[in-house]
Amino acid sequence: MPSLYIHVPFCIQKCDYCAFYSHSLVDSPEDLISVYLEGLEVEMTKRQKDAPQGVSSLFIGGGTPTALKAVELERLMKMIHRCFPMNEGAEKTVEGNPGTLTDEKLTILRRYGINRFSLGVQAFDDSLLSAVGRIHTARQAREAIGRLRSAGFDNLNLDLMFGLPGQDMILWQATLEEALSYSPEHLSLYGLMLEEDTPLYERCAQVTNNQTENALQLDLLPDDDLQADMHEWAVERLKQEGYRQYETSNFARPGYDCRHNLGYWRGADYLGLGPGAVSCLNKVRWKNVEDVRVYENCLQSGQSPIDEAGEEVLTLRERMAERMILGLRLEEGVDFILFRNDFGEDLRDIYRDVLEHYKDKDVFVADNDYLRLNPKYSFIANSILRDFV
Ligand code: SF4
Repeated sequence: MPSLYIHVPFCIQKCDYCAFYSHSLVDSPEDLISVYLEGLEVEMTKRQKDAPQGVSSLFIGGGTPTALKAVELERLMKMIHRCFPMNEGAEKTVEGNPGTLTDEKLTILRRYGINRFSLGVQAFDDSLLSAVGRIHTARQAREAIGRLRSAGFDNLNLDLMFGLPGQDMILWQATLEEALSYSPEHLSLYGLMLEEDTPLYERCAQVTNNQTENALQLDLLPDDDLQADMHEWAVERLKQEGYRQYETSNFARPGYDCRHNLGYWRGADYLGLGPGAVSCLNKVRWKNVEDVRVYENCLQSGQSPIDEAGEEVLTLRERMAERMILGLRLEEGVDFILFRNDFGEDLRDIYRDVLEHYKDKDVFVADNDYLRLNPKYSFIANSILRDFV
């Protein structure tokens, strides 16, 4: 039984660091959301057959799903309910951002059984938020948390970012302490990544090229050591508060791990709908085109909305590498027996060279059942895990 992801590719305005696929509503034609919903309805109807027993979890992400108007959100929820029955007790998450939540929208989400909300707070500091082009203020984030709790959301995730321009350890600690004061069930902490083709990247590149008065701005980006210290401090602080770091960037109170994302990290099947959404079912992966009108046109004319890369049948080696890369980001690690059952090989044989390479530094820790990444290397997990490809 797959999990279901719905991509809502709209934000009020793009943040300066964001390379995700989403359209800025400020610059989009008015009909774009209805074109999107038309296409999505056709895709849902076609794809119902991929989840004949219903779905195990639902995640409506983006973009900013709550950038939709209440009436649009209700239409989206109705479509999902019509096409995909949910398992008893399924986790159903919606992502949203401060400044886009209204009581009316939250009432609709609750009415359709949404039982988890993920809020993009990033920082409780207006100057840090505006330094990366977030459109909301810290006050709006506080209001949004209050609204969500009043609407009955008792499973709340707050997304926070560290390594923002101008952020020092004191400011990072203040943001995390304020987040803790709201007792969220779950926290996701991400370091700022400079992605090419984003306004923030361009600004930094410009500064590096001509050391002008803007040089100050680049100097204010926390360096890797400071980012590592911020992450390390947060890990310890959250541990004191009873949160478990069940994945490199994700922390939860007992019983509140995100089940949808856990399925993805453990290699379970998922069906992604909407422009730009990725699916992986029965060892076949595909991605939809990143263009609302092309997506809708394809669906209305009976063609596939999958992008030009087409359906990719994952090789055994690719599936093994994926299991290692995703599994080692989890606190639980990679299960030796499960790996052998799924792939017919012992991972210690397949990845002998990588494990040998890092042996002296204790990068990996093994017991009888699992291989894990030593937590002290979790901040640089990505660079280590690349060796499994
Ligand atoms: S709100 Fe999220 S998806 Fe939208 S532009 Fe900002 S970072 Fe990107």
